[in-house]
Amino acid sequence: MIKGSCACGRIQYSTDAQPLSINVCHCGTCQRISGSAFLAFVDFQTSQVTWTQQPDKWSCSDIAGRGYCKMCGSTMSMIYHFEKEQTYICLGTVVETDHSLQPGAHIFLKDKAPWFTIADDGARRRDTFSLEFEEKIKKWKAEQTHG
Ligand SMILES: [Zn+2]
Ligand SMILES: [Zn+2]
Repeated sequence: MIKGSCACGRIQYSTDAQPLSINVCHCGTCQRISGSAFLAFVDFQTSQVTWTQQPDKWSCSDIAGRGYCKMCGSTMSMIYHFEKEQTYICLGTVVETDHSLQPGAHIFLKDKAPWFTIADDGARRRDTFSLEFEEKIKKWKAEQTHG
């Protein structure tokens, strides 16, 4: 079980599903919208997460949209346009859980903040996405341009 909320409490969510993965993203966008060194995400099947209210949306790039609360500014989620069946929820919004929430990978280390040192947590380390994910994006982009 995971229950979470934005800072002002206007947007809340819960799920009884098992997390699919946990990734810590150090990309430039995650740094800007967190105002910090990274954002950590836990992802679920979109259909298995219940929201009291859908997060407000910002299309951060051609491949993904970000969910946030326009009242308090909390960054809450991310959905890739080619993978809408999965929702990546920002770990910092989790209020209550019985999962251990151990990160599986640090991604986009090519953009890592120079002032931040990653703990020796045993998680995988990648410069960008995994190769498998890059392939997924490439395939989706090709489909877009060819109609
Ligand atoms: Zn809020
Ligand atoms: Zn990122």
